[in-house]
Amino acid sequence: MNRREFLETVAAAAALPSFARQTASQSEWGSPVFDLHFHMRPQPAANLAHLDGAGVTKANLLTRGAAFDQVKAIDAAAPGRFTWFNSYDVTKPDAEQVLTQAVKAGAQGFGEMKFHVAADGPELRRMYALAADLRVPILIHFQEVDHFKDEGAWSTGYAKTFESILKANPKTTFIGHADAFWANVSADYHNQAAYPSGPIARGGVTDRWLSNYPNLFGDLSANSGNNALSRDRTFTPDFLKRHQDKLFFGSDCSCNDGHGAGTSQANNPAAARLAGKCVARETLTVVKRSTSDEVFRKIVWGNVHKLLQIPA
Ligand SMILES: [Zn+2]
Ligand SMILES: [Zn+2]
Repeated sequence: MNRREFLETVAAAAALPSFARQTASQSEWGSPVFDLHFHMRPQPAANLAHLDGAGVTKANLLTRGAAFDQVKAIDAAAPGRFTWFNSYDVTKPDAEQVLTQAVKAGAQGFGEMKFHVAADGPELRRMYALAADLRVPILIHFQEVDHFKDEGAWSTGYAKTFESILKANPKTTFIGHADAFWANVSADYHNQAAYPSGPIARGGVTDRWLSNYPNLFGDLSANSGNNALSRDRTFTPDFLKRHQDKLFFGSDCSCNDGHGAGTSQANNPAAARLAGKCVARETLTVVKRSTSDEVFRKIVWGNVHKLLQIPA
């Protein structure tokens, strides 16, 4: 190829819509990939840079408050590659009204719900009921241990109280996420660290509840999900197999390029193990090496399409 032909080839590739460029990325993981936990970035190009860089086909934009115009702009830049969830301060009296409007405008779920309230408190209880009424899933951040001084905890009391919520709300689709959700795959967790390490004591509440409650699902994103899958290699393959219809791949990655540039875990000191890395890539890698091609495809692609009732 001479220089002119080379330049023409480069120009032709650059002119392709980004959707078409996904063919190569799909093969990178051996399956198309859907990122359930992707916080919307203001510029459409920044969203696409992460998806394309990490080999992700589609993503669910997590938004808070008024987001419709931004979602529309991103969707216009890459038709068919994004769904979206919306969240809103659950302590505000108009929370139900705002979230109902968001669903009417096309939001396919609530999330992420990350507020300094109790997991079984009145603020979230009304959201659980509304999610059932509107038939959308609700994605919740559970965290009991601060990452930064005086940060405060989020959706507290998970291990002690959430089973009663699962029982009381059989029509609500719950998606659990974050530190307390994933640390509780181990039966010996008592809020002693944000991200416990070492062998997993079998029979933790999250593992049992995923088995016992059809309305509970797990979002594998962030250091929390990655840590749960990485800390005990004898645990992971059976866990993925056992809950192969209940787990979703998500990244919660904030790196710039899908390769770890910039900041991947909001400079959280407790998550330093993922500094300089793309959480999407790290978690896809651990899931892929720990399970069959069939189960991998369900977790990174099939399950979320069933959840959101959209064609795969
Ligand atoms: Zn979160
Ligand atoms: Zn990343």
